[in-house]
Amino acid sequence: MTRPKLIRQIFPPYLLVLVLSLLSFLGYASYSFRNFYLDQNTLELLSRARLLENQVLPLLLPLQPEKLDILCKTLGKTSSTRITVILSSGKVVGDSEENPDKMESHSTRQEILEAKQGRTGRSIRYSRTLENNMIYTAIPLYQGENKLVAVLRTAIPLTSLDHQLTTLWVHLTIAGILVSLLAGALSLWIVKSIARPMEEMKAGAMRFAQGQLGKMPVPETEELASLAEAMNEMAKELEKRIHTIIHQKNELETVLASMVEGVMAIDPAERVLSMNASAAKMFELDPEESCGRNIQELIRNSAFQKFIIKALVNLEILQEDITFYAGEERILSVRNSPLHDPGNHVTGTLVVIDDVTKLRRLENMRKDFVANASHEIRTPLTTIKGFVETLYHDPSIEPDQSKRFLEIILRHVDRLNAIIEDLLSLSKIEREKENEEIAFSKDDVVDILHTAITICQGKADEKNIHIDFHASEVLPALMDKTLLEQALVNILDNAVNYSHENSTIEVEAEGVEADIMIRIRDHGIGIPKEHLPRLFERFYRVDKARSRKLGGTGLGLAIVKHIMEAHKGTVSAVSTPGKGSEFTLQFPRTRL
Ligand code: ADP
Repeated sequence: MTRPKLIRQIFPPYLLVLVLSLLSFLGYASYSFRNFYLDQNTLELLSRARLLENQVLPLLLPLQPEKLDILCKTLGKTSSTRITVILSSGKVVGDSEENPDKMESHSTRQEILEAKQGRTGRSIRYSRTLENNMIYTAIPLYQGENKLVAVLRTAIPLTSLDHQLTTLWVHLTIAGILVSLLAGALSLWIVKSIARPMEEMKAGAMRFAQGQLGKMPVPETEELASLAEAMNEMAKELEKRIHTIIHQKNELETVLASMVEGVMAIDPAERVLSMNASAAKMFELDPEESCGRNIQELIRNSAFQKFIIKALVNLEILQEDITFYAGEERILSVRNSPLHDPGNHVTGTLVVIDDVTKLRRLENMRKDFVANASHEIRTPLTTIKGFVETLYHDPSIEPDQSKRFLEIILRHVDRLNAIIEDLLSLSKIEREKENEEIAFSKDDVVDILHTAITICQGKADEKNIHIDFHASEVLPALMDKTLLEQALVNILDNAVNYSHENSTIEVEAEGVEADIMIRIRDHGIGIPKEHLPRLFERFYRVDKARSRKLGGTGLGLAIVKHIMEAHKGTVSAVSTPGKGSEFTLQFPRTRL
């Protein structure tokens, strides 16, 4: 919609008022001038009549019409005035312009009627005799005190009045036009000088609208100045509030961004209102690009999609675990809470996502551990029970056979013992690690390696395995000597167990920057790649039967892992099936 400009709204009515007042002034001025002119001429004509009165009266008593007429004509010519003498009967006896005998009775003329009533008469009208507009005045002429004998009339044509009025009109009109132009220009200037600061204020307000909340110029006019000041005040307040809002928003964003949990707000049309960095990372999304887009399009996971639909429809707090694949499988715990506006209307739902993959894995591991431990213990127990029952119920068993049975029972008891030893050892390390009770002391890693090799040497010799050891002379480090020895023995024992006869095991130890690095490499059966990630879990074994046969508990590497963790270190394995395995222990020389 195009709105008229201020100048177009103010200027035309202003000009109209100006022209109308000018026209009224012109009308009033010419009317006043005409009246003034007529009044002046009336007075003039009357005084002329009074001057003539004394010359006319003697020629009326007795009446001398010829002389009167000559007197009228002579005086009329010299004074440029029409002079007429009319008897009380109405008969004209002398006239400066006409032959009185030819003139009709004047008794009904208005000025004559007024004069006959004893007043001075006046009339303005068209004269047929002179064919002109005339102003007539008439005075009564008395004989003695009050005997009316005649009326003396003086008149002049109004041609000069018309002429003067026309001249006045022309002058006034020219002056009016000039004044109008001047007033027009002045009003234009006034309107512009009002509009200019308003235009500047408009530009200032536009700048405010565009977010540039600096000061707008303050005009000089009081009203506009207070408006501009009020707007500046408003802009200042606005800036303060925007600043507060931005500050609060930043604070909120910082809180949301630093949250480990993913947070996303979704409107009832399933569009993303906002999401924090954690949520974007979990679902591999761009937080900026995702805003305003449909969540179902963004996250193509049917469990999550169903959860969002339920959360938006039910408006109650829900909690669910969903499995999400992004490179690897992850378990996300999602819960919602409805979003409300200040009027308590539901405006969507807020979803909080927790990556519980580790937690759930740990829970599963714990469950598995209990199941595995029970299973591991039950197997030898069942065997022991079976043989004990046989021995108990069957007295006819030959001594040779019962000896064999007892040997089996003993082996399984040893196995049970080994499992319980390892379990106790694990829980002890865990407890000491948690309570920070591990006895760290400065010792030589090379020394401990020598001891561990000596412990395993007997078993290695049985298989004719050569243990090749390379290390610097001394490698001092802060450690729990007994635990580190136990870790090394476990790895070396495995290396011997899973190595072929007549092979070699290489052991290396060195200092790498702030760390101690120990490598134990065998040339045995190796470990298939898929088993490597789970190798350090409790009771995890690549080949259960083989491990049992070798007297393994499935806890050796789990113990190694815990010992290394207690030393703020790591253990890792690389292996090629059929070629051999390499286990690396790495831990800092001094405690961090
Ligand atoms: P175990 O008591 O059965 O040896 P560990 O925890 O020490 O239990 O080892 C777990 C499993 O890892 C073993 O059962 C075995 O399958 C595999 N393993 C460990 N060390 C080696 C190695 N040097 N060569 C091949 N397999 C190994």
